[in-house]
Amino acid sequence: MSDGEWQPESDPSKECSVCSGDFQYSRIDNQINDSWYIYCSDCGSTGLLNSSDALPQDVLKKCGYELAAEAEPFLPACNCGGAYRHGALPRCPHCNAEIGRDEIIAMLNYYYEKEEWSAATSKAGCLQNCVIINERIQRLFS
Ligand SMILES: [Zn+2]
Ligand SMILES: [Zn+2]
Repeated sequence: MSDGEWQPESDPSKECSVCSGDFQYSRIDNQINDSWYIYCSDCGSTGLLNSSDALPQDVLKKCGYELAAEAEPFLPACNCGGAYRHGALPRCPHCNAEIGRDEIIAMLNYYYEKEEWSAATSKAGCLQNCVIINERIQRLFS
């Protein structure tokens, strides 16, 4: 729990469906930032790519705003030593259980409803934005 840039005091909290531990979450608006996201397959941290210059243009395919599998070989390792993988999910910071896709949609919808936005998913069914659990985020190529 640190003070700072993600304003944790205003972040909603959620209970893990496996261990009942509490965690806070926030959302990055990837459309507005023009950024891409991908989760670590080991710890579930959010990796954020802010600059499209960092990767070859032909691997910058995305589904929603998640980086595609083609980008994986170009990404640095997560701070935990794990790898960022397309399709990986965020995880509970207490028991490391994956947070399910439906739960992520509910978390995103908390923000969409506040802002009267539309759906959390793209037409292809991919999640449009990423969530950050307990401020666990790594900026790729920062
Ligand atoms: Zn848990
Ligand atoms: Zn990790």
